[in-house]
Formats: sequence, structure tokens, C-alpha cells
Amino acid sequence: MLHYIAAPMTPRRLPLSPARRLLLMVLCALHLASGAARAQAVAVADPGRGGSDAAQVLVISGTDPYLPAFVAIDSAMRDAMARRRQGPVVWIHESIDTARFGREPGPMLAQLLARKYESVDIDAVVLVTEPAVDFYLRHRERLWPEAPVVFHFVAPGYAERLPAGAGLSGIPAQVDFAGAVRVALALQPNARRAVVVGGFSPFDEVQLAGFREALSPLAGRLQVEYLVGLSPQQAAERLAGEMRDTIVFFATLFRDADGRVYVPRTALETLTAASSAPIYGVYESQIGHGLAAGAVESFTARGERLADLVMRAIDGSLAGRPVIEPPPPSRCVADGRQLKRYGLSARSLPAGCEVRFVEPGFFERYWWQSLLVALALLAQTLLITSLLLQRRRRRAAELSMQAQRVQLLHASRLAVAGELTASIAHEINQPLGAILSNADAAEMLVQSGTMGREELLQILADIRRDDLRASEVIKRLRALLARQETERRRFDLNEAVRSTAGILRAEARRREVDVAYDLRAERADVLGDAVQIQQVIINLMLNAFDASAEVPEAARRVRVETRDTANGVQVSVRDFGVGIALADLPRVFDSFFSTKRSGMGLGLAIARSIVEAHGGTISAASCEVGAEFRFILPLAPAADLPEPAAASTP
Ligand code: ADP
Repeated sequence: MLHYIAAPMTPRRLPLSPARRLLLMVLCALHLASGAARAQAVAVADPGRGGSDAAQVLVISGTDPYLPAFVAIDSAMRDAMARRRQGPVVWIHESIDTARFGREPGPMLAQLLARKYESVDIDAVVLVTEPAVDFYLRHRERLWPEAPVVFHFVAPGYAERLPAGAGLSGIPAQVDFAGAVRVALALQPNARRAVVVGGFSPFDEVQLAGFREALSPLAGRLQVEYLVGLSPQQAAERLAGEMRDTIVFFATLFRDADGRVYVPRTALETLTAASSAPIYGVYESQIGHGLAAGAVESFTARGERLADLVMRAIDGSLAGRPVIEPPPPSRCVADGRQLKRYGLSARSLPAGCEVRFVEPGFFERYWWQSLLVALALLAQTLLITSLLLQRRRRRAAELSMQAQRVQLLHASRLAVAGELTASIAHEINQPLGAILSNADAAEMLVQSGTMGREELLQILADIRRDDLRASEVIKRLRALLARQETERRRFDLNEAVRSTAGILRAEARRREVDVAYDLRAERADVLGDAVQIQQVIINLMLNAFDASAEVPEAARRVRVETRDTANGVQVSVRDFGVGIALADLPRVFDSFFSTKRSGMGLGLAIARSIVEAHGGTISAASCEVGAEFRFILPLAPAADLPEPAAASTP
């Protein structure tokens, strides 16, 4: 026979001494008195039972009714009854607790109960565990012979063996040891060792037997050790020394080998606190108190089913047709905290397994704060991305603008070259003509046979000089026209003015303008593009030539000067031509402003853009006679820079 849940605390039988007998009688009298008082209380709450529809249900427990499992089942049963049944229910509880005290309650207790309840109508009796059923069957003639009876939490075999004529309905309990083993192996498929912790009470032994049977097919795969009869502290010490991949099964521990009794759930808490390996079990009441997982029956479901059966018993629908209902199916339940503690993955659990006590992760706990941070990060990322894109676009636009500017500068230089074509042709023509004359003279002298060696050398020297002059002009022009890319090098501004003078010499002569240079600047090192600065000077000088064209030849004078100033080196181009009308003065640097018939109005705009790109300033002034243009470029820093580049000055 399966003894449920409680172990006998004192298995030995003591002979009753007269004193003990007296004590027992006093206790019986007190018990009867309290029973009568309770019955009276019921009668007061339920005056005379006649006229009241309150159902009175007597629950007789064969063991400690305060074990966590029974508390859970009992409260689920009461809740379900309160919800589903119309009309009040009066619950009366008796505990014979045979299992704990180890002695069959004899006829005396039956007699006391019969007496206690003789004036109380009982509508249904609920018998919890096998000792309660045994007691009832033995004394049923004396105890509520008419009341319908429902039992629960007995072994399925026990239920099958109940006498046919007993007319009892009930719900047996099926403990799923094999299910617990399956759950453990699902979580720890590589485990090679298992430890089963159990107690010494008959109930503990039944549990151990259940695990033995469930583990026997795995003999080749798992090496199993049984820790039986140790106190929870001793067992905990052993479990503390286990490897993390050991599987521990808890088979209840009501009593240890020394006869000390425990509540299994409390014992489990002691084990769990120390165990290095996860623990599995078969009772729902232990989930949340140390089991990592288990195959357990739902005590809530049991309580609800029991309530249904009790209601049917009260209604009389079970009369003559007793039913044995199947126990609620066992199902996998796990404790999220224990899984986390032992590093077990909930994903390995069998499908449909319920995981309780899942501690919310950081994002679940702080979801709205996380959302805010994520949104802020997203906004920041979008902002940074858009700024980077903008920067990229701006850079691309700048590059394209720069390229266009360079092309514009080049085009404007080509235009200047076009303007100078006549004078350049003249300038090249002169040395070429001289070369030809010298060559003719040499030929004549050779033919006349009068040519001396000295004379020939003189003629050749003249030819070389003229050739060099012509090639110098071409070299300067090529430097002005060929290059497109902008340079940033150190160069001498005086030198740039001198080189420009070379380019414009013939043009000045052609236009009959007297150009004078006064290069007074002592420090003229600047950083930038010498060709572009030359372009500025050429522009200013050609404008001065244009302005001089309309005045008498005597007034056609242009002064080009360099000088040191506080802000850098200054270049000024002064003419005595037509001058600038005061109204036009603020617009002369605007693009497309021109007072000339064939002017494009780009020269000064380009000049200003070049000067400003070199960090300088440019200005125009209208003088009493003529006009003056000045630009100032900052001096190059004295150190950390390359030497003035000869190549940049033509
Ligand atoms: P463009 O020479 O094609 O007209 P510029 O930008 O070089 O274009 O000059 C713009 C205008 O500034 C000229 O049309 C002219 O009216 C005025 N200007 C420039 N330089 C002088 C100068 N030295 N004397 C008088 N006016 C000048």
C-alpha cells in the first residue's frame, strides 16, 4: 500500500499506562467538546440546517493537511467551489494523520467523530490520501453512512483495488518519474552521472522506487548514485561537491536515517542553496523552491476537478454511479531563475514546457528607457549620417566649384593671350627677323670670301641671343597658358611683377603706354600660385592700358609698384587714364560689370576671387586723374615652409 506524503514520526508502539489512558480520555472529552462547539457554530451560521441551502463538506485528511501540496489543492478546490456553486459551502476539516503518528486510529476515534457529528448534516465527505480512505472504509457504518464520498491523492493501484461495493468516486495521483527524467535529459543531454536524494520514510521509499524504475532503462548512459537517509544538510554538502553537469533528482525527504522528520520542500531549499548541479522533481509545490524543472501535475487543476466531483456528489448525480477520474496529466514546468543559475537553456526544454519566474531582462525591465535611448541613438545616427552626407555633398560641390574656377581662370588667361596675340607675334617676330638678317649677312660674307673668324663668331652670338629672346617669350607664355591646376608654393611677388613686365612689354609698346616699375617691397615672399597672381597683375595692367587709350600719348603712363605694408606685401597699378566714375566704383569688382564696348566684365571679378583665395584684399580708387588698383597678399611664414620655387616664376 502506498502511504502518502507523511512519514510516521514515532513508529514504535507504546503500551498505554493508566496515566496516559486518563490523559487520552481528557483529550477525547476536549475534542468532543470542541467538535460540538464547531457543530453548534455551524448550526448557528446555518440555523438547524432546515431552511438553509449551505452545503456542508467534511474533508478528512490522512496526513498533515498543511503540507504545501495539500494547501495548494485545498485552496484551489475551495476557490472553484465558491466560483461555480450557487449557495454557500461550509468546510469542515478533520485530520486523522495516521501516517505521521503511525497508529491506526481505532474505533474510539470513529466513535468520537460519530458523536461529534451526530447532529450535523454532512452533504459530502472528501477523503485525502489512503489512510483516510482506509479509516473511512473501516468505520463507514458508523460515520455518515448516507453521505456521498470522494477521495483523492491515492495511488492508481490502490484506487483499482477498492471494494466494488464501496461506491467511492475519486481522483488518484499519478507521479511522473519518467517525465522528470526526460525533462532532465532534455536540459542536460550530455550528463553522465545522476544523484537521487531521498529519505527513509515509507513514502520516501515509494518515491525512490519510482525514480529507480524510471532510471533503470538508462543504466548504460547514466551512472546513478542514491543518497538515502542523509539529513538535508549532509545531502547538501554532497551536492555541493558535484560537477555542474550532474543531474540531481529529489525524491522527497520526510525522514532521515536517524528518524528526524522534515517538510520535503524545506529540505529541498537547503539542498538547492548548496548544490552545484540542477535538481529535478515531480511535485508542483517544489517548483519555485529549488527545482530547476520537473514533470508535475497541476495542483490547481486537481483542486478544480475535485470541486467538480464534490459538486456532483452533493447534487446526488454520483449516487449509484461512482466514477474514478484520471489524474490531471503531468506537464513540464521549469524555474527560470534556476535555469539561469545553472546556465541551462530554456530552448532545450520539451515543447510546451512552462517556464516560471522568468526574471525580466534588462530591456524588458527598462523597456521605455531603452526605447528612449534607442530612439535618441537612432536620431543621432540619422543626424550624423545626414551631416556626413551634407559634408560630402558640400565637398563635392566645392571640388566642382574649384575645378570650374580653375577652368575659368584658364579660360580668362587664354582670353588675355588672345588679346596679346598681336604684341606677342611682334615680340617673337623681332628676334626671328634679326636671326634672318644675321643669317643673310653671314651668307653674303661667306660667299664674298671676306668673312673672318671673329666676325662669324659675332654673328652666331647674335643669332643665339635673338633665339633665346624668342624662346624666352614662348616660355613665359607657355607658363601662363599651359598649367591648369592650382599650386600653393612660396614665391617672390617682385619676381612675379618682373615676369609680368616681360609678357606685357611688347603690348605696352604697341599701345604706346609708358610703364614704370618701382619694386620697393623688401620682403615679398608670399604663399600661393604665382601664375594666378601674374594673371591678376596682367588684368590690372591691361585695364590701365585700356583706360590710357583715350588720353593723349603724353598721359599714357602706368606705374606699377610693390611695397611693404602692415598686412603684407602690396602691389599697386596706377594709371592716368579716364578714371572710374564714383557711381561705378562700388561695382567694378562685380561679375559682368563693364563700361567697355567689347568688355566681358569678368577680369576684376576673377582678380578679386584669386586675391581672396590667397588670403588677401583688393581695392580700387578713383584718383583726381586716372585710377589706382591695389592688392595686398599676406607674407609667407618665415619657417616650416618650402623655399621659394624658382619653377613657379616664369
Ligand atoms: P572688362 O575689362 O572686360 O570691362 P573688368 O572686370 O576688367 O572687365 O573691368 C570692369 C570695369 O572696371 C571696366 O569695364 C571699367 O569700367 C572699370 N575699370 C577697370 N579698370 C579700370 C581703370 N584702370 N580705369 C578706369 N576704369 C577701370
